[in-house]
Amino acid sequence: MNPLFRKLLGTRQTEYFVVNHNFIIQETSAEVQHYADTPGDALPGADARISFPELVGIENILMSILIGRRPSFELKGIARFADNNRPLYFDMLAVEHENEQDTASNLLILIEDATEKMVMKQSLIQRANEANLLASALAASKDYIDKVISSMGDALLVTTTLGIIKTVNQSAQWLFGYSEPELIDHPLSKIVVEETLLYQARHRYILSQKEFLRELEVICTTKAGEEIWVEFSCSAIQTELEGLYDFVYIGRDVTERKQEELEIRISLAKEQELRQVKSRFFSMLAHEFGNPLNTVLFATQILKEYGDEITHEEKKEYLEHVKSASKHMAQLLDDVRLLSSAESGKLQFNPAPVELQKFCTELVESVKISYGKNHAINFLYRKLPASKKADRESEKTQHWRTLDAKLLRHILTNLLSNAVKYSPIDSNIYFQLNCDNEKATFKIKDAGIGIPIEDQAQLFESYYRAQNVGKIPGTGLGLSIVKQCVDLHGGQIEFSSETGLGTTFIVTIPFGK
Ligand code: ADP
Repeated sequence: MNPLFRKLLGTRQTEYFVVNHNFIIQETSAEVQHYADTPGDALPGADARISFPELVGIENILMSILIGRRPSFELKGIARFADNNRPLYFDMLAVEHENEQDTASNLLILIEDATEKMVMKQSLIQRANEANLLASALAASKDYIDKVISSMGDALLVTTTLGIIKTVNQSAQWLFGYSEPELIDHPLSKIVVEETLLYQARHRYILSQKEFLRELEVICTTKAGEEIWVEFSCSAIQTELEGLYDFVYIGRDVTERKQEELEIRISLAKEQELRQVKSRFFSMLAHEFGNPLNTVLFATQILKEYGDEITHEEKKEYLEHVKSASKHMAQLLDDVRLLSSAESGKLQFNPAPVELQKFCTELVESVKISYGKNHAINFLYRKLPASKKADRESEKTQHWRTLDAKLLRHILTNLLSNAVKYSPIDSNIYFQLNCDNEKATFKIKDAGIGIPIEDQAQLFESYYRAQNVGKIPGTGLGLSIVKQCVDLHGGQIEFSSETGLGTTFIVTIPFGK
């Protein structure tokens, strides 16, 4: 071998051996033994196929190189396992080698150590296999978790710190009526009405040693606009960024339970109200029936025991007392009966044409006689302007309006008699009737004791009386009756009042057809 070429191969750490056409080794490099199958056999004069059995079976190929038909032949990744812990790999390249001395060509077999390359390749393959195994294990566990989440009966929502929805499960989509794309990347406020509540809950979670928050009941809106109650538990997951959390909400529809609770609360309140009404009824009974009953008892006793001694005039006076006390009690009983039939829906509504101005004028006169001898009741009628066509029509009907005169009498008598009862003697009471084609508005204004603000909300409840009535007699029935009569007309009643200054009631009654 050319010394220069040998030197070159030495620097590249390439070993070699040269064989003739009988595969007899002619020359070897120093370390070629290292790669021989049986070390010590790769010596000049020996058959190369003994130390390198890889050459067996490829003699024809090698010969074709020798006769110039083929430039080279390469065998890659040949393994030697003399020491199992230290495998040896090498590549062999066979090329023609021209002999300097004789004319016959030889074969040059170059050997390059491929151990490092192969070991690395193998470890890469192993790592790739491991990574594949890990990836499929991860995919399997993700699939498993996805199945668990999607088969959950409870709704699951995951949001960012800012409340933007990142994940929803099937139950959440069913519960809120939205599809997944309609929720993902949208704020939680899209479904949670009281989002501030959840916001506070999140903050509490972070501040309170990260304990799991349960049973946060909030109102949510579905896609159909329905409001539902959802009980949420909330926990946080630390994201890759320190201090930033994702929030996991697990919610359950508790609307039915909430409704039941509400119904129970309403029926409890009703029961309580009934109890109050009952107690107010008995106290009214004691007060309002007590006095006339005593009068009757007292007068009849006098008549019985001293009938022969008292004058005819005195007898007439006592009988008058009995009569008016009995009338008062009969009136009370009438009111109680009227209210109870109104409350049980038995009060009849019989609309018929009424000449309103005349009706009110007469009613004011009768109130003046029965209650208002010491007050000035000023009646004022105002017809509001209407369209010409409507005007012509109303001319034709001569101010007749369709409403229930009997119920209207209850309304106005009660309001006017109250105005009288709760106002100082000689004070003015204003009764104003405004009419247009659709409705009548009755306004009754007094300058009386007024109604304390604390009593105003309960004023239309049966037997309820304001705290400032003092010794002024009353049953607390009148306004309840008024309210029922107004309701039967489909009308409205409202009032404004200031204690010590007076009260104004306004009743609006629409006309029937
Ligand atoms: P009563 O028989 O007690 O007058 P009502 O039902 O007619 O019963 O009225 C209920 C309560 O409303 C009265 O007890 C009184 O406290 C208050 N009230 C009604 N009308 C007036 C008014 N014009 N001025 C002051 N208080 C009034």
